[in-house]
Amino acid sequence: MSLRLVLLVLGIALYPSLFCAQPLGVSPRLKALMRNMILIDSHADTTQLILEEGYDLSQRHDYAHVDIPRMQEAGMTAQFFSLNPDSYALTPLQSIKRGLQELDAVVQEVRRHPDLALMAKSTEGILKARSQRKIAVLLGIEGGHVIDSDLRVLRQFYELGVRYMTLTHFNNTDWADSSTATPRWNGLNDLGRQIVAEMNRLGMIVDISHVSDKTFYDTLQVSKAPLIASHSSCRALCDHPRNMSDEMLRALAKNGGLVQINFFAGYLDKLFFDERERTKGPWEAKLAELKKQYAKDPKKLSEETRKIQNAHKAQLPKVPLSKCLDHFMHAIEVAGIDHVGLGSDFDGVSNLLPEGLEDISKLPDLMQGLMNRGLSDPDILKIAGGNLIRVMREVERVAGQ
Ligand SMILES: [Zn+2]
Repeated sequence: MSLRLVLLVLGIALYPSLFCAQPLGVSPRLKALMRNMILIDSHADTTQLILEEGYDLSQRHDYAHVDIPRMQEAGMTAQFFSLNPDSYALTPLQSIKRGLQELDAVVQEVRRHPDLALMAKSTEGILKARSQRKIAVLLGIEGGHVIDSDLRVLRQFYELGVRYMTLTHFNNTDWADSSTATPRWNGLNDLGRQIVAEMNRLGMIVDISHVSDKTFYDTLQVSKAPLIASHSSCRALCDHPRNMSDEMLRALAKNGGLVQINFFAGYLDKLFFDERERTKGPWEAKLAELKKQYAKDPKKLSEETRKIQNAHKAQLPKVPLSKCLDHFMHAIEVAGIDHVGLGSDFDGVSNLLPEGLEDISKLPDLMQGLMNRGLSDPDILKIAGGNLIRVMREVERVAGQ
């Protein structure tokens, strides 16, 4: 063996990262910072998997996006799981039942793994779980239809632990307009204003993801506490009504609120969104066929569904992690560093995530990307969860008044 070859072999053995093409991963600086980091994701739809196919949070899966082993790998502090009964298929009354079933599924799943996770209902609860080295699990409602326009139902969901509610889902409620439906109320109506006031009084965060621009501005007028968009991105970079315009971002910042960036490739990259829309017809027909075929076997249905989704994704343009970083940097530039956080939408976007951000275990790579873009250590801590803790405290303070 020549001296040069010996040095090369020795070099690879000692410094493998210098010789392989893989990304370098987490830097020592981020690794050190992560020891003090509160890392919170404000929106995942894993709830459906838990309820429908008995998805075990304590096991590492080679599909879906969130489970406790992968959360631990990422150094997660807390995760909000959303309750999102289908607002098209169910009546509001049916949605209450489904919402309760979803809530129960999360609570029972956490109860099954008391050594790994803890239900949390407050900032104090998050910190308690953290001190016990457990993942804090929190609940949010996706879509105001779930309370059936009834303040009493809203209050009972709060009692059961729900700590935010998006005022609408993809369609309007009887009191608020959605960003993806024909306006019916010109924003928020009188009942909508009462509901926002009651959420403030209870200490439930008012979530403006999914609402129309007019509903957003109306809600800003009414709410005494900061708002969040639990899973929305930037319209200036991807022109979709689900994303927030720069004007909305500035107004949200003025209110003390937060935009939690959504990782869905279609909300990050308009070309991707359009290409998916253009090609989805035949794929959706196949999925509808599967639904009929495996109506009684949810596990098999989800397995076969994934195959179809993967085949479709393979034909779509790739969206790199850098696109997601662009949205973070844009939101930081427009709204300010105190008004941005993480709202992945994991398990709610089929498999349509950026390359390098395929599941929750990849969050450190996202944080590394933000560090590489020049964010300071205190800035990274704010984005990771510091901002959301601040907003939750403010919501709790307003409720206590
Ligand atoms: Zn959503």
